[in-house]
Amino acid sequence: MHFEHTFNDYQQTYKHEGRVRSDVIELTNSYNTLTTSIRELTNDAGVDINVVSINGTIPIQHRDATYYIPLDIYITYDYPSEKPLCFVVALRGMNIVPSHKYVDTSGKCYHHYLSNWTFNSNLKQLVENLSIAFSEMPPLYQGYQTQNSTVTQPQNPTRTNPSAPPSTEPTEAPTCVICLDASRTHACLPCGHRVLCERCSRLLRDNKCPVCRETVEYVAKIYD
Ligand SMILES: [Zn+2]
Ligand SMILES: [Zn+2]
Repeated sequence: MHFEHTFNDYQQTYKHEGRVRSDVIELTNSYNTLTTSIRELTNDAGVDINVVSINGTIPIQHRDATYYIPLDIYITYDYPSEKPLCFVVALRGMNIVPSHKYVDTSGKCYHHYLSNWTFNSNLKQLVENLSIAFSEMPPLYQGYQTQNSTVTQPQNPTRTNPSAPPSTEPTEAPTCVICLDASRTHACLPCGHRVLCERCSRLLRDNKCPVCRETVEYVAKIYD
């Protein structure tokens, strides 16, 4: 397992190595859209340290479809005495929803599960809580930055206020899992997940399918 390899290089650094290992494995076993890596993180003293990081996407349920929110989690050395750092990642062309309840403009997450973090809290429960919170209020929308401001606000009011979608509206076809906006016209190959719009298909993160994390060799436009 790739994680064993990366983790063994750093196990001396973690005070509670067993907990880090079991919590990360529990999380990645529950979410196959998440994988582990070693990443550089600037600590409070301004020093770059290498930490175990969990990267990928987490599923949310929105407008009767499943979408995937890009997420990075960093496990600091005192984990779980110290809570992990958690960031929503706005890929190119995406913006963080302004004044989001759980995410600041840098993407950093402030869910109450994090603010109430204890030694007995764990990564799987954190991600479950974020998934529920982001289902109620997705943290990302598609837009274009100008020099001074974001000019494209979400066209659909349910985007910024998803808690009040008109329930009488006919169910729309699910939209792209990354931007939640455009049609799902493109499929990842070889896995075959048709979940992306054209724009997002060109901006795939780590060249991995956002649904199954399989490496994408080709992206194909699908004609109905
Ligand atoms: Zn898209
Ligand atoms: Zn896939």
